[in-house]
Amino acid sequence: MKLTSRSKVVSNKEQSFSESLYLPGIIKGMSITLSHLFKRRATVKYPDELRPMAGVYRGQHVLKRDDIGAERCTACGLCAVACPAEAITMESAERKKGEEGMYREEKYARIYEINMLRCIFCGLCEEACPKEAIFLTDKIVDTEYEREDFIYGKDKLVEKMTARIDVTKRQTKEVIEFKKLPGLKHNELFDGKSLNKGKKH
Ligand code: SF4
Ligand code: SF4
Repeated sequence: MKLTSRSKVVSNKEQSFSESLYLPGIIKGMSITLSHLFKRRATVKYPDELRPMAGVYRGQHVLKRDDIGAERCTACGLCAVACPAEAITMESAERKKGEEGMYREEKYARIYEINMLRCIFCGLCEEACPKEAIFLTDKIVDTEYEREDFIYGKDKLVEKMTARIDVTKRQTKEVIEFKKLPGLKHNELFDGKSLNKGKKH
């Protein structure tokens, strides 16, 4: 019974004299190699050379800070629930008095980890987040030698104050419109003492 149309009948015939010299095979192989010398290269010299990326490319995550530098994440866990790869884990803690400039909400993520080996960069965590705290960026995740190095903690995920990351292109029109709505405390700036009414970010 023939199970596939791609099967080939194997020949057991004796090698001819020219075949036993391997010359035709070598010449054929070299001609293929030579023909590639004159073709356009299919590879780039990464990381010196980068391929153009699509505007919708989703790479390494960032946990955003607000304008005054407070972490936006409130450890609600919605990103972890939305994640189809179960790549996100976190542990929450309560903000103490005097930490208002560090954490935007009364609850914050003491530990926040993403397993980059599990992540499929679908962006569902970004969509699920009600605090605009997590975004995917166009940064390619670094290669590592050890598996545990792919577990990214807050040290790698939280945005650095000295290297802010622009995510405006990833914010949908709906989110931008939502931020303009009056009366929503959700996006009001904290000025160190109280919510700064009217000023949004
Ligand atoms: S991008 Fe997708 S797979 Fe990766 S952490 Fe977010 S929800 Fe999970
Ligand atoms: S990143 Fe957003 S969705 Fe995830 S725990 Fe923080 S606030 Fe919640």
